[in-house]
Amino acid sequence: MYMQIIKNKEQADAAWLDQSKKLDPLKDGISSVELLRVSGTDLDIANAARVSYGRVSEAVSERDVKLINFLMEHNHSSPFEHNQLSFRIKAPIFVTRQWMRHRMNSYNEISYRYVKVGTEFYIPQTWRFQDQDNKQSSFGAFTDETITAEYKRSLEQSYAHYNKMLEAGVCREQARAILPVATYTEFIYTCNLRSLMNFLQLRLGHGAQSEIREFAKSLLQLAFPHFPIALEAWRKKYFTTQEWEGQLHDWTDKEWEDQLKEWTDQLG
Ligand SMILES: Cc1cc2nc3c(=O)[nH]c(=O)nc-3n(C[C@H](O)[C@H](O)[C@H](O)COP(=O)(O)OP(=O)(O)OC[C@H]3O[C@@H](n4cnc5c(N)ncnc54)[C@H](O)[C@@H]3O)c2cc1C
Repeated sequence: MYMQIIKNKEQADAAWLDQSKKLDPLKDGISSVELLRVSGTDLDIANAARVSYGRVSEAVSERDVKLINFLMEHNHSSPFEHNQLSFRIKAPIFVTRQWMRHRMNSYNEISYRYVKVGTEFYIPQTWRFQDQDNKQSSFGAFTDETITAEYKRSLEQSYAHYNKMLEAGVCREQARAILPVATYTEFIYTCNLRSLMNFLQLRLGHGAQSEIREFAKSLLQLAFPHFPIALEAWRKKYFTTQEWEGQLHDWTDKEWEDQLKEWTDQLG
């Protein structure tokens, strides 16, 4: 196996310190995915399964790798739940609406009843065409200075009206209703690995909107070094089977391997 396996908590902690914890998925200098905390490693997944036999592994062995792959293959999912990942996310409201449909997680979000909305809005770098076959989908990328200028003007107008309403004494909870779903919001997202994998499976797929896919990639990148065996087993199960082929992430196997290598190399 070419990748380094994190065998115990000390190595996981060291890996954690080594790697970049905060990513900007939409590359606009505003969006962010920050890994706040992780508990558990691949070893805990193996040990959660081994408790059935009253056994404990002290370090990840090749048998544990096989065990984790077996669990994944046979949908024996509960051993993947004894860990926790907490992320701080900054995302446009329309991405957050999609995100929070994932119920098997914990969330806390900034309240624009308490605080005034800042001047942070998502401005796409390129526009996409509406897909006529799949009504939820889009394709391509193009730029149009007129559209971008009008989009920005509309954001500015909304924000100016928002400010005017506040100045006129309207409460924040009502004034915010005038703002667009491109407005940035911030929240804490806490999940276990099972739920994260469900999120990734759905939100890395081609059916998912490109913006949330970028967030999903960042989650995967930050989580991967902590659970390299489980996430590789998950990837093998869902990314290469016929059922999912062509629907999921557009990385080829080679690109995925290069990506894994890059992430695991960060561990030193
Ligand atoms: C590409 C895409 C398009 C979508 N389009 C739409 C749309 O047009 N409209 C819309 O409303 N939603 C849409 N969704 C949201 C989707 O229907 C799910 O609500 C969302 O993806 C969360 O998935 P989930 O239920 O698996 O996740 P979670 O809520 O985190 O649940 C995880 C798992 O727990 C179990 N579970 C959770 N709650 C229940 C329950 N009440 N009963 C039984 N089992 C449960 C299920 O096994 C579920 O897979 C879309 C999602 C995707 C990925």
